[in-house]
Amino acid sequence: FKIPTPKNEPGNTYAPGTKERETLKAELKRQSDIVVDIPVIINGENIKTDTVKQVVMPHDHKHVLANYSQAGEKELRESIEAAMAAKEAWANMPWEHRASIFLKAADLISGPYRDLINASTMLGQSKTAYQSEIDAAQELVDFLRYDVDCANQIYQIQPSSAKNIWNRTDYRPLDGFVLAISPFNFTSIGANLPVAPAIMGNVVVWKPATTSLLSNYYFMRVLEEAGLPKGVINFVPSRGSQVSEVVLTDPRMSGFHFTGSTSTFQTIWKTVGENIANYQSYPRLIGETGGKDFVFVHETAQVDKVVANLVRGAFEYQGQKCSAASRAYIPASLWEEVKSGLVEETAKLKVGDIQDFRNFMGAVIDKAAFDSITSYIDFAAASEEAEIIAGGTYDDSVGYFVQPTIIVTTNPNFKTMVEEIFGPVLTIYVYENDKLEETLEAVDTASIYALTGAIFAQDREAIIHLERRLSGAAGNFYINDKPTGAMIDQQPFGGSRGSGTNDKAGSVFNMVRWTSPRVIKENF
Ligand code: GLU
Repeated sequence: FKIPTPKNEPGNTYAPGTKERETLKAELKRQSDIVVDIPVIINGENIKTDTVKQVVMPHDHKHVLANYSQAGEKELRESIEAAMAAKEAWANMPWEHRASIFLKAADLISGPYRDLINASTMLGQSKTAYQSEIDAAQELVDFLRYDVDCANQIYQIQPSSAKNIWNRTDYRPLDGFVLAISPFNFTSIGANLPVAPAIMGNVVVWKPATTSLLSNYYFMRVLEEAGLPKGVINFVPSRGSQVSEVVLTDPRMSGFHFTGSTSTFQTIWKTVGENIANYQSYPRLIGETGGKDFVFVHETAQVDKVVANLVRGAFEYQGQKCSAASRAYIPASLWEEVKSGLVEETAKLKVGDIQDFRNFMGAVIDKAAFDSITSYIDFAAASEEAEIIAGGTYDDSVGYFVQPTIIVTTNPNFKTMVEEIFGPVLTIYVYENDKLEETLEAVDTASIYALTGAIFAQDREAIIHLERRLSGAAGNFYINDKPTGAMIDQQPFGGSRGSGTNDKAGSVFNMVRWTSPRVIKENF
């Protein structure tokens, strides 16, 4: 089939005085004034359970946005059975009809439901209008359209034939069902983790993060409206440990699509390993995990670019992107200028309620994140090896607010330089210009991760050297740009080492993992 050639979804600016801003504000108000009941959705049925929990606004944590039913063991088992019951019809649905459901969902989000999905992402995950637009509107729509296009490209790949022989590949889905466990930080990832396998004909049990349930629930509703058959994706807000016991270890679990922490992925991998003899097929484990993403500045870099990109890379969405710039290496010759630029620019950033469109940052996602992030700030404040040159303060009385914080350390292996913090904290190490190679060694080896990284340099020889020297340190490598904001189809996203299986979300590399091809030879 000729699938309509996708283009990256254009974004709205929500500038003052625009119509988009008015309608988004009205939707924010509407959603703030109601409390939504979020059910478990199995086989298209809305199920209420006895365990009801709250979804609150991170920037106003007494404000309840929704009550959700938590799935227990019974519902998790039912979700597997529902998926398995839907499997055959889904896999056999003509491809153009499967595709059209997701293309329709993309059009619904691009058009009539854009405000719905953006407002729920802003309120539930504390994203600014801009951060929500690039995630819940643009990237989400891109995932749907490009995943369909990638699947279609895969289906075209066919073997050669010979005289009196016709060979063909039948792109079957995986044997059993796929388990998707999604994170809070991108509504688009929440959508993509169940959708990518489903596009390839798989049935899915989807456990969304409980801190992003509002937007994820609305996305599920959009899929239903677009015509997704019952049971193909089952929406089961639940406890991770129970999902691990009941769903992960089910012999029919044949694929696992994950974004989240490195330690969770490792635990899951171990559980799968311990049960390996019980599975019908070897499960595919596809995970995008942590990051400790670097910015390396060469002495030939342009300082204004470095400052602007460090601030955006480190602090947009409160530093809660896997790709966020969280450690930087600055040459001594540029340090004074970089430092004054950073201090000046960081002081301008406003932190607060995302419904006030002047704020650059909202709150961090929840109390656990707030406590963890602030413990790193406290650690740096008490250390002789570190100095806090911006921010360093926090307050959770109304919302989980952490000021954008910059730590400068004299130790390239300082705790905040090597551990993932997942918050608005940037740590800087100033290196002597003649210690370039030692510093590059530190960039490469200081952390267990290799997700994103950026270099800033003007000199071409330096760019070539840095690109080669740091080839193992990042799956997405940026030259004179911030390490965040990968766009579908332009910068396929993923990392290696402790950062994941590098299956490049939103690309053919990812989509190919969701098929188990059968090759058919026919003699004439
Ligand atoms: N793709 C996002 C970016 O490039 C990051 C995704 C993540 O946080 O997992 O900024």
